[in-house]
Amino acid sequence: MTDPSVAASTERRAQLAGSLARVRSRIVAACAAADRDRTGVTMIAVTKTYPASDAVLLAGLGVADLGENRDQEAAGKAAEVAAAGVDVRWHFVGQLQRNKCRSVVGYADVVHSVDSVRLATALGAAAERGRDRVLDVLVQVSVDGDPARGGAVAGSADPDRGLDRVAAEVAGSGSLRLAGVMAVAPLGWEPERAFARLAGIAAGLRPDHPDATAISAGMSGDLEVAIAYGATHVRIGSALLGMRPTLR
Ligand SMILES: *Cc1c(COP(=O)(O)O)cnc(C)c1O
Repeated sequence: MTDPSVAASTERRAQLAGSLARVRSRIVAACAAADRDRTGVTMIAVTKTYPASDAVLLAGLGVADLGENRDQEAAGKAAEVAAAGVDVRWHFVGQLQRNKCRSVVGYADVVHSVDSVRLATALGAAAERGRDRVLDVLVQVSVDGDPARGGAVAGSADPDRGLDRVAAEVAGSGSLRLAGVMAVAPLGWEPERAFARLAGIAAGLRPDHPDATAISAGMSGDLEVAIAYGATHVRIGSALLGMRPTLR
């Protein structure tokens, strides 16, 4: 008799291998359509709401980059995955509170969601104390210019949320590296419009920050459009792991 937990894990592994193959072929096709090199796009598997065992299975299938959106869930999961002897890069992609910076710098390799000067300052201080390697940071941008839903705003005079100021704060920190920008397409916007605008914002940042080349855009439903508009990182949850029980 097969141990039922082993059978379940074998079945889950096969399921994840299937969805991973489908997502990878979508990425390959999107790169071909955009005349881009496949190596220019990193897929991040967003494992939120799914157990560490799924993260370990994905890593075993060759996924090197995993993402989470809440520190409370991510910290434990990252520790479990590390305890399993699995080495991955963790991307923190969710809204980040300043009081969580100390925890996040302990496991994250990249933070995609820095959207204010105050948060950049807090994260820089936490990274300075809590890690021995520089932390890669993407500035999260609000493409519709509405700061209420999060994101720095290009051209804003707000000293805390203006994109140039947030970028300068990250770039000036000795413990952070400004790697690029991130955005989520606003509700009700065509992804083409959102990602075209993000590409423009990213280009606008480059004269001052030539190494900030990363563009984190595109999720399960719109990765092709994001790749067409230059995404270097796509963040894929449900297409890999399945529909989440709650929307978040
Ligand atoms: C959950 C999440 C994703 C993945 O979304 P899917 O639609 O499930 O692919 C990507 N980015 C962020 C910031 C997320 O919170």
